[in-house]
Amino acid sequence: MVSKKSRHRDPLVIRTPEGLYCPKAQAHIDPWRSVDCALITHAHADHARAGSKDYHCALGGEGLLKQRLGDQQITPHAYGDSFTRGDVQISFHPAGHVLGSAQIRLDDGDSVWVITGDYKRDPDPTCKAFEPVPCDVLITEATFALPIYRWPSMDQTMDQLFAWWDHHVRHQRTPVLLCYSLGKAQRMMAEIQRRSDRSVKVHGAVATLNRLYEQQGIDLCPWERASETNRGVSSDLVRLDASPWRSAARINSSRVRGKRSCRLEWSHQDSSGQPSNPGVRHTWRNASVNTVSQRTPRHCSRPFGNRFWN
Ligand SMILES: [Zn+2]
Repeated sequence: MVSKKSRHRDPLVIRTPEGLYCPKAQAHIDPWRSVDCALITHAHADHARAGSKDYHCALGGEGLLKQRLGDQQITPHAYGDSFTRGDVQISFHPAGHVLGSAQIRLDDGDSVWVITGDYKRDPDPTCKAFEPVPCDVLITEATFALPIYRWPSMDQTMDQLFAWWDHHVRHQRTPVLLCYSLGKAQRMMAEIQRRSDRSVKVHGAVATLNRLYEQQGIDLCPWERASETNRGVSSDLVRLDASPWRSAARINSSRVRGKRSCRLEWSHQDSSGQPSNPGVRHTWRNASVNTVSQRTPRHCSRPFGNRFWN
């Protein structure tokens, strides 16, 4: 989206083989390859990649970035604070997507450009709410911008989750929920915490990130690593990383093997806009009501499906 004011100026941000680039600041935004200066919107793997010299991110997200990228030079900035590179003032603004997620604002004095990164406008207890940032040019993510996408409210989702959970505990089955380890898992745990005193067991990948969330003061429901619990049917929800190409292996290697369990995938995605059409719904897909299979679940064959990615 481009305002009349900036239509005839040189673009402040251009596309390069490394990704979006601001020549005046000599900085890339969420670069795909190694660069000198990387401005990172958030720590998801499709936005943050290792190998650059210098990283800048929003304050609160640096722990997740270190966890994902390893030992890198990372400078965090408080939301709204600006710093200068070349002729450009740069600042990070809340995107409401995951802990530390940010829109990036670039201002060269002539025009203001904003790159949203992933964002959502729904409430989320695990991160700061999305803030609209006035600008001349908006570069927006649009993963779920099609009007076919429509998500139910979090209250509806949680009612469904608890009903499903209780049903399978009543039938002596361990409920196993698949959801992405960074962001989605913690959001679910925070929503559980707000509504109940239930506890969950989590995969190690989720446990590591949970600690980083808790260090930032985010309240999650009581949890422990699934690998540290006794075998047998559990009345706690077991939460696994939902990376589609690894889920089967993780299920099979986890302590839930040998338990009677019921697996469910959480396919709710954060979108860039409001839900709009009941045709495609966020659903609790009851993928199996029997013991977790040794075979790759059918849903795991989706290569980098967006259902799991953010
Ligand atoms: Zn993301």
